[in-house]
Amino acid sequence: MRKPYCGSDFRITDIQQEKETAAQPAPQAALDETAAATVPGDGYMEYHCQNCGAEVVTGPTTAATRCYFCHSPVTLTDRLSGEFKPNQVVPFALDKRGAEQAFQKWIRSKHFVDRRFLSEDQLTMFSGVYYPYWLGSVRGTTTFDGTGTKVDTSVSGSRMTTITSYYNVHREAENHFTGLVRKALQRVDKRMADGIQPYRMNEAKGYNPGYLSGFMAEMRDVEQEAARSDMLENCRSRAENMIREKRGLNTLKGTAHFTPGQVYMHYALMPAWILTYKSEREKPYYFMMNGQTGKIFGRLPIKQSKLLAVSAILGGIVAALLCVGGAMLW
Ligand SMILES: [Zn+2]
Repeated sequence: MRKPYCGSDFRITDIQQEKETAAQPAPQAALDETAAATVPGDGYMEYHCQNCGAEVVTGPTTAATRCYFCHSPVTLTDRLSGEFKPNQVVPFALDKRGAEQAFQKWIRSKHFVDRRFLSEDQLTMFSGVYYPYWLGSVRGTTTFDGTGTKVDTSVSGSRMTTITSYYNVHREAENHFTGLVRKALQRVDKRMADGIQPYRMNEAKGYNPGYLSGFMAEMRDVEQEAARSDMLENCRSRAENMIREKRGLNTLKGTAHFTPGQVYMHYALMPAWILTYKSEREKPYYFMMNGQTGKIFGRLPIKQSKLLAVSAILGGIVAALLCVGGAMLW
């Protein structure tokens, strides 16, 4: 990590040691923290930058940002502590340059895109943001009770025999669902948050505020219970559908029942690059890129004239082929 204002480099492990050895110093040694000054309402807060003293207004879920004047990182540690302390963080693997290159490569692979979109000044508007997610794993058992039939038909000579076997069916299953992910910030678009999944969770680290340095971060506003019941409902339907599979039977009727057992929930911050493209007339386009894998989700500005030109050419080719087909067949 680098402190942007004094340029000194240090490692995350240094901060951990520093924190452990520091005997309750009044100002935190390695991290920029500011005390809440006033509460203008609606969760918006004014903080004072410790570096230059400027006022920094933050949104209701902002957990880390930059001072607008001196660009020092400002971490609102009270929003990432106690019950809001994340368990894990997936660090950024793509820096801003890497994100820009991945984005340009993606745009070039798309046809019909408005070329103005590729202009340099548009592509510098990248922001690195850590978004909150709930991660879960669920164990449970599922039972099924019902009746099934199996029909066998055999033919010998002019005689056909049909044997229908009736079964009482009892099934038991043990389920273990892992890697369940739910967004933990309400205002994030669900399709985007889901669209840039998955993250390689084996690279997740134990939470340390040092990872947030130089990036923005949001705190969660979705309660654990809400994410948990959503995950459980999803597991229930998947488990019950699985146990209802016919598996060699011709018919199967009955009732399935999923009973959840151990549920583990983790609160994690995951990295994303956000790009906003504003054109003069249209409403803005938003893109989200997985800050670890580079996977992108978003809608592109399509240049209608390009699309129409290609449609016209394709239409012409199809018409020509139809004429040839007509000449040969009829
Ligand atoms: Zn400042």
